[in-house]
Amino acid sequence: MDSAAADGHSGPGPAANPLGHGPVLLLTDARLADGRVVDVRISGDRIQAVGTAGSLGPLPALPGTPTATTGARIDLKGYLLLPAPAEAHAHYDVAFSAALPTPPPETPADLTRRVTEAALTSLGYGATAQRTHVRIGDVHGLRRLEAVLTARQALRGLAELQAVAMPRLLTGRAGADGRAQLRDALKLGATAAGGCPELDPDPAGYVQVLLEAAREADCPVDLHTTGADPVQLARLASALAPLRPRVVLGPCGSPAPGAATVLATSGVRVVCLPQNGRCSGLEGRAAEQRPGLLRELLEARVPFAAGSGSLRDPANPVGRADPLEAAYLLAAGGLMAPEAAYDAVANQARAVLGLPPVRVDAGFPAELLAVRGDSLAGALAGGHSRLVVHSGRVVSRTSAVREFADTVVLALPRQSGSTGGG
Ligand SMILES: [Zn+2]
Repeated sequence: MDSAAADGHSGPGPAANPLGHGPVLLLTDARLADGRVVDVRISGDRIQAVGTAGSLGPLPALPGTPTATTGARIDLKGYLLLPAPAEAHAHYDVAFSAALPTPPPETPADLTRRVTEAALTSLGYGATAQRTHVRIGDVHGLRRLEAVLTARQALRGLAELQAVAMPRLLTGRAGADGRAQLRDALKLGATAAGGCPELDPDPAGYVQVLLEAAREADCPVDLHTTGADPVQLARLASALAPLRPRVVLGPCGSPAPGAATVLATSGVRVVCLPQNGRCSGLEGRAAEQRPGLLRELLEARVPFAAGSGSLRDPANPVGRADPLEAAYLLAAGGLMAPEAAYDAVANQARAVLGLPPVRVDAGFPAELLAVRGDSLAGALAGGHSRLVVHSGRVVSRTSAVREFADTVVLALPRQSGSTGGG
């Protein structure tokens, strides 16, 4: 049913902006999650005003300014307008590799193309900011990171892409290459230092080396851990404490019972992967997310963000990278209310990326997702048609159309033919 989002992309670059609006954008008749129907005026990269539908009037005609640069008005009747989601945990350097030969081709062009395609897939679903973890060192050197940084440059203006550098080993003689590559990666432009301490023979030593590099580069830390050993997790959380709040732990796929309490008192941010709890960063150490984990985190009042983890890579060949799918999984079965589930993929995910929160209110960043639906529950149940605003500009649009072959005649006063898509 989806058109571009499911199978490919039409490449919405600056020259192909689907709506070609100028510096001012007026979104009309949009429904908010609280039920209000409003107009939203955007100027530059900020929301300038929000008022009841019709109250903001026509766009101002700027004297002497050509019409094409005065802005655009977009009717969002039938759409729900939300703070844009963010992708808190991805592995774009291995995206779309499930169907490729092993090992997949890794020329700079191959890597850059797959990373860019992955970021556009996520953007089409609404994630205007995205964080991807990239393996460095060993046979990879900095090749994968360079591909991500090239894609980040190409995507500027469409989406914000962050890279977390992941060395495998950092201690002892075997870790010398990882230590050098980590420092080089942070100088080259990696956003954060990461990796999985449990893959190093000396996990505590790994964390110490990583913290030192992060302090030197003045960057955040975003680590993988299974959390399987609560004692080790407590040590890890304690070692990371000096760097709070710039510390993230994920995906925490299979922590032992009791780990939620450790995380609650540590104050570090936690990322979960509701789709399957697996990602390539753990190298198979947490095959599945332990049932009941999310409920334990909720009960221990651990604030967590939800990410996608895998996009059609060996850890999840059907991974979709749709933040609304992650929110759907949190809300399905009654674990969380739709509002809290959406917050986990929106403002909680933005916090993981170190970005300020978004509200559909004057003064907030114009990072927005309009999704077909009349409520958050309806949008999570099947909002396929979407319009994405990044930095005040429409950067992606997906239109779904559903048609039926015959008119269905009901024993009601009115008859219906085709319906709009979701
Ligand atoms: Zn991961």
